[in-house]
Formats: sequence, structure tokens, C-alpha cells
Amino acid sequence: MTRILEKSNRQHRKALSKLPLGVSSNFRYWGEDKTIYIERGSGGRLWDIDGNEYIDYRMGYGPGILGYADPRVDQAARDGIEVGGVFALSTEREYEVAKRISKMVPAAELVRFSNSGTEAVMAALRLARAHSGKDSHIVVEGGYHGVFDSVLWYADIEEWDQTAGDPPIEADSEGIPELLKKLAYFTPLNDANYLEDLLKRHHQDIGAFLIEPIMGNCCSIMATAEYVQAARELCDKYNVVMIVDEVKTGFRVARGGVQELMGFKADLCTFAKAIGNGYPISVVAGREDIMRRFGDGVIHGGTYTCHSVALAAAEKTLEILDETDALETIAGYGTALRQGMGEILGNRGIPHSFVGHPAMSGLFFSETPPSNYRDWLNSDYAFYDTMAPQLHELGVLCEPDSREPWFICEAHAQDDSLAQTLAAFEKAVETTLDKLK
Ligand code: PMP
Repeated sequence: MTRILEKSNRQHRKALSKLPLGVSSNFRYWGEDKTIYIERGSGGRLWDIDGNEYIDYRMGYGPGILGYADPRVDQAARDGIEVGGVFALSTEREYEVAKRISKMVPAAELVRFSNSGTEAVMAALRLARAHSGKDSHIVVEGGYHGVFDSVLWYADIEEWDQTAGDPPIEADSEGIPELLKKLAYFTPLNDANYLEDLLKRHHQDIGAFLIEPIMGNCCSIMATAEYVQAARELCDKYNVVMIVDEVKTGFRVARGGVQELMGFKADLCTFAKAIGNGYPISVVAGREDIMRRFGDGVIHGGTYTCHSVALAAAEKTLEILDETDALETIAGYGTALRQGMGEILGNRGIPHSFVGHPAMSGLFFSETPPSNYRDWLNSDYAFYDTMAPQLHELGVLCEPDSREPWFICEAHAQDDSLAQTLAAFEKAVETTLDKLK
């Protein structure tokens, strides 16, 4: 199969006249002739405007937990339209959904809704600063927490001289005030000694520790339970609010998210993505004493928070995730996909490992799974980078960048996606081996 992207290419040229890069998010631009425009999505599949069909493993970066256009959620959303939108006032359903979230995630003693992951993490960080009385925060190297200035800093391991201490910290974007850099500290994942050292030296300034224990934006690299426990204790010791960013892991890797999986409780946690199966809604939740600061000195709000459509969609999505075996189905499919891919790679002697959770797997071309972002350098990411475009040609849509995991939705398990994906994967691996000879 050779994909024809004639209409997408034409659309791209047209869109460039009105939209920077021809898209509405920088990450949707895949190059002059590779930027695709979607006609529709259904279940685990997408169709572009040229009629190419894809089994999608990006699932919009995670929101698609059940599948696109899930009829159960969409019917709830239609009912939500009837409620009337937003009123700058509250509705009864907010309590019902908050109650469900608290039941599923014990750390979520109190809940506030927002619209996006970015907004939820911004609110959590503000709350943490107010609670601790300290303005700085720690981010784990390779972590991503949204598009706001306090967190748009990254450890530049690609430009890193490993003999010269820690990797340099760079802004993700122009336009971010350099003075904000002073507020952000970085730590490699799974190195409790490093974290302890950092806190010993700077705990007077550090009010928050932001962590994705499965790094949903970094190959799904996973914290060990011991590391998370050590971090939990250090946060307690140094009066640092532990913010667990579950924007990707939440309601995906377990009903109670990564906190259930690893058996610990955050002070604050943030959710988005899977809550509404694609409808825009997010949550900041956590310890009652901290959360009650909203309304007691700390601002939180937003015109569109708890829009009746998104809220109704979230109510239905969470009901399904809580009360059916959807998450077991997703994990089962993810496990079978890993096994199938593992066999194809193993039969050819290609070193590889899978990291994270089967519902959001990182595929890593090295025998030993990475334990932090620095380890990603030791992966053969050239292999992934060459293979991903081959998969796109064959109708399997994974992220072109190897740092993004493969997201599974319930609908993948309901058709012949597995067999089709593995057949495409085998071909793509063969082509990649040829290309890299
Ligand atoms: N936190 C994490 C862990 C995320 O993965 C993302 C989005 N990829 C965000 C925050 C930001 O969410 P949003 O794009 O909805 O603003």
C-alpha cells in the first residue's frame, strides 16, 4: 500500500493561508507533505480526507479510552446539550461526578473541574504554592505537564555532555520569561538520592514536586514503587506538595490510576484525557485541607468549567470505566499487542523492550528498559523513527516520535485490529531493516 495524501496536501496548502503551520496545535504538523487532515474517527480507527484508513494508537494523545464516537458517551453528550451549556452557575451533576472520582481515586478527597490538562496542572501548582508558602517546584526530567510557562522547560539530553554534570535546562518555546527558569528544578526519575539531595539544598524554596509515575510523554518510562514511596516520604519531610499528574494515566492504567497501581496517595492529582472519552474536561483533586484553599485565598474558575456536554460525557465515561471490564479489555489487548510485536522483533534478533502499562506502552529499542529520560539516549530511536512512517503508510497510526506511547482503547479489541496491526508491523520492521542496512 502506498498512501495517497493528495487531498491532505492540498488542504494543508490552503490551511497555511489562515492557520500557522496549517494546524491548531504545533504537534499536528508532520511536515509539508505528511500533515494529515481527518474526516472522521470511529472506534479505534481514523479516516483521513483522502479516504486512508488507520488503526489509531495515538487516540488523540490519550483521551480515546473507549474509542472515537462511542455511542454510549455520545448519547450522554447529546443529553448534555439539552441542559443548556454553561451558566456561570452550578448544576447537580457536578457533585455526582465528583463523588464517582473520589470513589475511584481515594486521594481525590475533594474535586474541582477544569477544561484541559494544562488548566488542571496550573491550578494544582498554584494551590501547592499557596499551601506550602513556597514558589519553586520540581519537575522530573522528560516530564510534560502542559502548555503553561512554569512547566515549559526541559532537560536537553540530546545536547548533553554526559561528562559535564546534569543536562542543560532549556525553554520549550520562545516567549517564556527567563526569570521563571529560576523557579523550576529538575530531577531524574528513579533516583531518590538525587531528589533527597535537591530537597536538602533547596527545600526552603520548593513547594511542589510534579511527577508522572508512568511518563506518558516520555516513552512511558516507569517509576519503581520504591522510588515513588521514597519521593512520598521526602515530600512529607520537606513540606512539599506531591502533585501526581495523571492526565494520561488517570482512569486508564487502573480505575484508581497510577496511584492504585503503585499503592500510594498524592497530595494533589490532576486528570484529563480519559475522563470524558475526548470531551474537554479535566480535574484537580486531592487532600481536603489543601483543596479547601480554593475559596479560601486561592483562585480557581473559568467560564467553561463543567460545560453540560463535557460533564455529561464524563459521567457516562467514568460509569463505564468503573462498572464494566473496559479497562481489563484494554490491558488485555495491550498485552497481546506487546506479545505479537515482541515475537516479530525477537525472531529477527532486534533488541527491544516494552515499558509502562499495556494500556499505554512505550516501545524501546534496547534490551534493558530505561529507568529515566537519560536512558532514552541509549535506545536505537533511529530504528523507531524510520519504522513509524512505514507504519503510517500501512495504515497503523503511531506517533512519529518514539517518546509517545501507544494508546489502546476498548474498541481496538472489538474488531480485527490486532491481526491487522501485527501484519503491518512485520512489514514495517522488514522495510526498516532494509532501509537501515
Ligand atoms: N499533563 C500531562 C501528563 C499530559 O500528558 C498533558 C497533555 N499531553 C498535559 C498535562 C496537558 O494537557 P492538555 O493538553 O489537555 O492541556
